[in-house]
Amino acid sequence: MHYHLVTLFPEWFSSPFNTALFAKANQAGIVTVDYINPRDFTQNKHHKVDDSPYGGGPGMVLMVQPLLDAIASIPQKGRLIALTPAGKPLTQKLAEELAKEEHLTLICGRYEGFDERLYELLPIERVSVGEAILNGGEVAALALIEATARLQDGYMGKNESGTEESFTQNLLEYPHYTRPESFMDLEVPAVLQHGNHSEINAWRREQALAVTLKYRPDLLAKAVLSEQDRTTLNTLRSRSFAKNIHIALVHHPVLLKNKAAGSSSVTNLDLHDIARIACTYGIASLQIITPLADQKLLVQELIEHWTKGDGARTNPDRAKALSLAQLADNIDEAVTHVEKISGTKPFLVGTSAKAEKDKKGREKRLAVPFHKIAELAEENSLLLVFGTSHGLAPQALEKCDYILPPLRYMGHYNHLPVRSACAIIVDRLLGDIY
Ligand code: SAM
Repeated sequence: MHYHLVTLFPEWFSSPFNTALFAKANQAGIVTVDYINPRDFTQNKHHKVDDSPYGGGPGMVLMVQPLLDAIASIPQKGRLIALTPAGKPLTQKLAEELAKEEHLTLICGRYEGFDERLYELLPIERVSVGEAILNGGEVAALALIEATARLQDGYMGKNESGTEESFTQNLLEYPHYTRPESFMDLEVPAVLQHGNHSEINAWRREQALAVTLKYRPDLLAKAVLSEQDRTTLNTLRSRSFAKNIHIALVHHPVLLKNKAAGSSSVTNLDLHDIARIACTYGIASLQIITPLADQKLLVQELIEHWTKGDGARTNPDRAKALSLAQLADNIDEAVTHVEKISGTKPFLVGTSAKAEKDKKGREKRLAVPFHKIAELAEENSLLLVFGTSHGLAPQALEKCDYILPPLRYMGHYNHLPVRSACAIIVDRLLGDIY
């Protein structure tokens, strides 16, 4: 592999390239490096490579001409890669793909980065090494070089040592142990000491799943998982915070057709479907809120039919779901019910199809992203508040400690039925990610 480094600071690389395996691989000709300094290609007498940004603002921008000429001087460039925070992430998959190339040209930014026209003039791919800003692209280029160089034949002692590592299967790696067997009362797991390979492999797979679930659950969505893996994950599942979550289905105060606050009627469909959603996701209770006596009677009758009457006998699954439902006169009473069940006062999390506005039409408070609300539920009880009819009235939203973002806020039409919105929101908070 031949790396062509377009950099203002070639000296940056001298120590890492003269150390350990890279130095050996370099001597053996497995990897080679050359430097192209854009400063050598400037057309001004001060060898300036940067200038102030159009439009103002802090910092300097790398000028396009010295970079363009520097890159043009490389006879065999291979793929052109700019290291930039705005790039696609450097992953093991990308490293494996790039490792197959014979030449790579790596363009290291500095200051505020490159004049955008560089990307218009050359077919440059953008790669980032993480969601942190470095001072220059050299460290990022080093990361890319190390990830691709070690995949070259003959670079590492044993060719196979790359195959089981973190990320190769979209799983993090299992933990490792070496001598001594016991250190400060911490023992090496017994299974690793007995030498039964199939047991060791099963243990390692389980550990890899556990570590990934704990630190990078997002990777599981891309991993190829067996039936056994899914069973393992289900037993390991750390996302048991569903029990901290309650749902309130509000029929008062809600916005009616004329945009005035009032009461809506209960519906059999909402009651059944939301109870089933709650039961499916392990949610602790469903609070049906209505102050109207006739509506309460209706709900009471339905709940009794399905939890104690004929319905319960013919459909025990439905009985289980509807046993989560409880009537409340108003939101405050629902809060008291939740407090009794969970032992703590819940945070109220409002839902709405629109951003919350004040009287002057300005956005009143920022919605809190779903993952933040999920984090909150790990340690606190939450009451998710859903409005029927045209949504929660302002006085109901004002009671809420947090507001979730509207679903499909980028679209023009987002009038979802409350039970559909409830299913989507609950799934975003608690859904399987694998
Ligand atoms: N103003 C830029 C921004 O906010 O995106 C940051 C410029 S940074 C101070 C200078 C140079 O460091 C970048 O042009 C890029 O080459 C490199 N760099 C910084 N962070 C990086 C990252 N996470 N991945 C890849 N390159 C990075």
